[in-house]
Amino acid sequence: LLGRMMHQPLSVGSLIDHAARYHGDTEIVSALTEGGFERTTWGEVGANARRIGSALRARGLEPGDRVGTLAWNNRRHLELYFGVPGAGMVCHTLNPRLSPEQLAYIINHASDRMLFIERTFVPLIAPLRDQLPSLRGIVVLGPRDEALCDALPGLLFHDELLAEGDAAAPWPAVEETSPSSLCYTSGTTGNPKGVLYTHRSTLLHALSANNRDGLGIGAADSVMPVVPMFHVNAWGIPYASAAAGARLVMPGPRLDGQSLARLIIDERVTMAAGVPTIWLGLMDALDASGERPDSFKRTIVGGSALPPSMRAAFRDRYGVELIHAWGMTETSPLGTLNALKAKHLSLPFEQQDQIGTGQGRPPYGVELRIVDAEGHVLPTDGETEGELQIRGHWVLDSYFGQEKSALTWDGWFDTGDIATLDPDGYMVIRDRSKDIIKSGGEWISTVDLENIAISHPKVSNAAAIAARHPKWDERPVICAQKRPGSDLTDEELLAWYEGKVPRWQRPDRVIFVETLPLGPTGKVVKARLRETYGDVLWE
Ligand code: ADP
Repeated sequence: LLGRMMHQPLSVGSLIDHAARYHGDTEIVSALTEGGFERTTWGEVGANARRIGSALRARGLEPGDRVGTLAWNNRRHLELYFGVPGAGMVCHTLNPRLSPEQLAYIINHASDRMLFIERTFVPLIAPLRDQLPSLRGIVVLGPRDEALCDALPGLLFHDELLAEGDAAAPWPAVEETSPSSLCYTSGTTGNPKGVLYTHRSTLLHALSANNRDGLGIGAADSVMPVVPMFHVNAWGIPYASAAAGARLVMPGPRLDGQSLARLIIDERVTMAAGVPTIWLGLMDALDASGERPDSFKRTIVGGSALPPSMRAAFRDRYGVELIHAWGMTETSPLGTLNALKAKHLSLPFEQQDQIGTGQGRPPYGVELRIVDAEGHVLPTDGETEGELQIRGHWVLDSYFGQEKSALTWDGWFDTGDIATLDPDGYMVIRDRSKDIIKSGGEWISTVDLENIAISHPKVSNAAAIAARHPKWDERPVICAQKRPGSDLTDEELLAWYEGKVPRWQRPDRVIFVETLPLGPTGKVVKARLRETYGDVLWE
């Protein structure tokens, strides 16, 4: 027996149609790469998405063809986000902070047919052009500019494609299981791997993660995705915002605290999303200027652990709620988001606050479990630590271009994270399995050691690493970045650990660094710190 309801495939094209039809005059504000701002609407983005999609088809691109983007968060990128999958192709976002060799590897691995780039990336791509045989064309995101063609002959321009396209072109029919976008992991170990999302996974992710306990985006919000559009689809925020009809404030390339503070205040941003280092920068800027971002109510923080001291500081000083979320490229990315339940409301503030510091619980559509080294499922008692596994509607099955499944024998994806789970599904990341410190057979969480260091008023950021040790195999070393103008000694920082962790877990050594090395998605690259300081305890 079949049900008797309409079957309409979940598709990215249908999302932008909704936004354009019912929220057509809702504003999209974009910071331009060359400075200044541009204001468009969902209506215009929808029309341009159809123009771009139809122009690409007219130029011979076929369903499933990959279209690369090397771009910041702005309306032109948004047009590609909808227009490319809407027209049946795959929007492949590339991270401009990768090395030229890695970019070439990824473009070739994906066999991108077209590449859309910001004008400022012409010097980055020009020397690589000969190594990119799959590309039929490179399109600069802007109007025609002959000067750029001297550096890279044969360039096309976004505005020309818009003129070629048809704003009334119908979207081709797509199966909901066909691919809509492609994103590569940042490849901290080995070559980057591609995750190929489907229309269905993209829509279910956007709709389910945007519940009230999740992203919580509504049509009255002004949403600023600071998380780049090349970092796991900006955590699904452009898609969730289209479904909700929210106003978008796109920050472009300038993600320093001062620029973000200006944008939040001037554009009356209500909610945002980004990695912890971004909000550290914003807090420094607000503290220095003394301004209050009155409209700004909440921000989603993930990508690496949100230090509890930072969450408290935003709440107490600025009335901004930092909502902790966890995810990865392989999980679209949202796997957990943090919000209280009714039964928690009668708890004392400290206990509620404690729940809020964790990574949260899964929205409908994903499930979590923890296992031991042999794969046995571990108890969800909130204390037992194990390897975190996930399955669900928007979790990958196999990597792009690989035949073999990426899952365990019983269909779960191993995240490489070490976590605890409680009976309600609240999850706490203790570490990445490759970062955790194994001291004399016992585990020490680098996240705990970092949170303590960062809570010191004279420390702006910190990373704990395992250093080789003749007796204990590994011991913790804390690499700390001081706040500008602060004088802090090793002894002072070590004393700060007193009473906060058991004595044997305290770092053996403090190393003050000018700046911590940040990777292409703004996370501290601990592997590099281990290379430099991994032997400091070995005498
Ligand atoms: P990469 O592996 O290159 O960093 P991802 O962006 O996919 O690429 O990163 C996913 C990883 O980031 C997770 O497996 C986890 O280790 C870490 N992570 C993400 N969110 C959090 C969080 N809220 N707390 C701690 N770690 C996090």
